Amino acid sequence: MSSAEEQAELAVAELRSAWGVQPDGVWAAPGRVNLIGEHVDYNGGRCLPLALTRVTAAAARRRDDDRVRLASTDPSAAPFEGTLADLGPGAVSGWAAYAAGTLWAVQQAGVDVPGMDLAVSSDVPLGAGLSSSASLEAAVAIAAAELAGRDDDEALRHLLIRAAIRAENEVVGAGTGGMDQTVALLAEEGSALLIHTRDLRTEPVHLGLAEAGLELMVIDTRVSHTLADGQYAERRADCDEAARQLGLEWLSDAGPADVERLADPRLRARARHVVSENQRVDTVVELVRAGRVAEIGPLLDASHASLRNDYEVSAVELDVVVAAAREAGALGARMVGGGFGGSAIALIRPGDAEAVGDAVLAACRQRGLAEPVTLTVTSGPAARRIC
Ligand code: ADP
Ligand code: MG
Repeated sequence: MSSAEEQAELAVAELRSAWGVQPDGVWAAPGRVNLIGEHVDYNGGRCLPLALTRVTAAAARRRDDDRVRLASTDPSAAPFEGTLADLGPGAVSGWAAYAAGTLWAVQQAGVDVPGMDLAVSSDVPLGAGLSSSASLEAAVAIAAAELAGRDDDEALRHLLIRAAIRAENEVVGAGTGGMDQTVALLAEEGSALLIHTRDLRTEPVHLGLAEAGLELMVIDTRVSHTLADGQYAERRADCDEAARQLGLEWLSDAGPADVERLADPRLRARARHVVSENQRVDTVVELVRAGRVAEIGPLLDASHASLRNDYEVSAVELDVVVAAAREAGALGARMVGGGFGGSAIALIRPGDAEAVGDAVLAACRQRGLAEPVTLTVTSGPAARRIC
């Protein structure tokens, strides 16, 4: 059974046990991993994520009144009950803010969202840097839109992306730049998605990993982070200040020479990361499009170094697994996501998977760190109706 089918069954079972109803439909939306282009999405830059085959499934049933009841199979997520009028900023907290906040934002965008009973189930690890949050938002958003009778087309998907971003920014209170929601709703199976984050324009980029005899491994350090914490906001503030000092709307418009004009060494380092990371995205896209995906390893390595040294968002766990993966034969490796824990990726040859898995485990054990979990990922489709 596929991950989506499995999660769909679990979501339906949860809908039955939590709210005692059968679904009108089940929708699923993927987590993601970002191949390259980290911490550029709020700087108007470019990134290249791919959707995972792991998903959050949402089973939902339309109600005739204005009540909204939400449940999750996640044991730490308490059920939520409210009304359509009461789902916005300040009204909801905890996990329900992601789901209720999405319903609020979809309503705000002019969709006639009905009252509903909804339950979710996910195999995207929570807080691991694989964007369980956007997969939850996207699954709830598309479920709500279809329960409202909207046709699923490109215009709707763009509306839902904006709504999911609003939910996370305004209701959850987490600073997210839009990469996660965009890939969850627009990804194409087998491809990564080049996102121009300032206008959310996208282009699929066929990866051809299997053809090149390669695999992408995710290494979850199992050290959790929350994007809602102060570090993310501090980095955003640094970037805004650097852009302001350079007289730019977007820091991604700076060139290497502009960076050197910044007097403050911290702002200079932050800007250096953003500018060099955008260049690395462009180079990776060129290589992948030329069928040379096997050559992107050094760019992944350079991205990690930049995130660690200039952007200062790595963590000892991430540095240890990245170094161990490389030593065990990975062609390149880097931390992904917001940082301070979460996951890393490694580009590997399938024959090296076991050696790389063993090496990262041994390295963490030796240092007394949490034991990481590794998984091989392939590029899956965007949010969709399952049944
Ligand atoms: P990431 O998106 O990298 O997984 P975040 O901190 O952005 O990490 O989002 C994780 C949060 O999203 C969880 O702490 C929880 O509040 C919420 N969440 C995600 N998926 C689920 C789920 N299936 N059930 C309940 N809450 C979820
Ligand atoms: Mg998230």
